[in-house]
Amino acid sequence: MIHNPEIECMSREDMRKLQSERLVKIVKTCYEKVPFYRRKMDELGVKPSDIKSIDDISKLPFTTKHDLRDEYPFGLQAVPMTDVRRIHASSGTTGKPVVDTYTDNDIANWSEGVARVLAAGNVGKGDVVQVAYGYGLFTGGLGAHDGANKRGAIQLPISAGNSEKQIMLMKDFGTSALCCTPSYALHLAECIEKSDKVSIDELKLRVGFFGAEPWTEGMRKELEEKLRIKAIDIYGLTEMSGPGVGGECEYQNGTHLWEDMFYPEIINPDTLEPVAPGEFGELVFTSLCKEAMPILRYRTRDLTRLIYEPCKCGRTAVRMDRILGRSDDMMIIRGVNVFPSQIETVLTEFPTYTPYYFITVDRKNNEDTFDLDVELREEFYSPNPAKQMPYIKPLYDRIVSLVGIKPNIHILAPGAIERSTGKAKHVNDKRNFKG
Ligand SMILES: [Zn+2]
Repeated sequence: MIHNPEIECMSREDMRKLQSERLVKIVKTCYEKVPFYRRKMDELGVKPSDIKSIDDISKLPFTTKHDLRDEYPFGLQAVPMTDVRRIHASSGTTGKPVVDTYTDNDIANWSEGVARVLAAGNVGKGDVVQVAYGYGLFTGGLGAHDGANKRGAIQLPISAGNSEKQIMLMKDFGTSALCCTPSYALHLAECIEKSDKVSIDELKLRVGFFGAEPWTEGMRKELEEKLRIKAIDIYGLTEMSGPGVGGECEYQNGTHLWEDMFYPEIINPDTLEPVAPGEFGELVFTSLCKEAMPILRYRTRDLTRLIYEPCKCGRTAVRMDRILGRSDDMMIIRGVNVFPSQIETVLTEFPTYTPYYFITVDRKNNEDTFDLDVELREEFYSPNPAKQMPYIKPLYDRIVSLVGIKPNIHILAPGAIERSTGKAKHVNDKRNFKG
């Protein structure tokens, strides 16, 4: 079902008009209220009066994660603190966290974005939505929670972790929708498989909304089979409020972006020029409605493309293809560009392996080393290296052909690789700590 047909199915022409009106307004606010944007626009010689429609967006300055950190915590805020109702922040594992602040309207718009995604999975009154994203500064928990509220659904604010309890309540409370990271959902699926208290037949689960980290079609297939659900991708980022910047529809053929609130562009990350429609490049967002902390042309570092062909669902909102990786996550190993998601894609092609992996990159004798820990599934695993050999060779060959580098593969026992309750950590690049 469609939450807001008037907007989600609006003609492209009307959408351009709405975006243009909103851009003109937000640029004026940024120039008048945020010294950072006034300085940036003055440097480029752009005045708010130069922005007459959405077509003028490329005249505006970019915003980067560095800018957000430099302006930490409230330098980009366009309203007085008395108008702010909530503060969220990213985990900030590398330096200062990225902060987002919200007015009442910002929270309402954010919930609207999440509600549109939940509606695509037919979530509404009577549905128990188990929110197993972390609650707290991270936007996942409260974002999904408020979206479920907007749909009139029942919120189950369990947060992440305590998997035994998650599956017990899933059964006892009749959870129909699960919201969490895809890696945690897989972990829960494994817990259900192993549990002697809860069986999948006793669950009412029918849909899952998974996001906050990239995942593959292979993982989707596994989640849908193991949990007997439809697995829907929900996309978002803290800089643009949080989850619900867009999401998949029932056809699961790309992520519809809520362009009335978040205007997407694709640029060439080297030249910073827009790419031709449909080409791959870096995704850039301008918030068109955010009041507390409006952001112009935020460089997400996510590499993807936009699909403008109409979707079978009837929504006209542009679709984003799967994210190939982040320009940030890209590792250069022996001169080859490697994305961790490529390893995951390869693993899900093999029925013998679990999708869990861990990469260690180091440098020995002036040469990069690439060690890959993987797990064989229970039924294929043996601690005897000779018995592991037949499984290693095909994986090795596939990685060499797809990624272009030769890994040192280490087979671990099923369950040996750490399962995270939040965003999974897949890489330890030890080269960063050496001279
Ligand atoms: Zn669609």
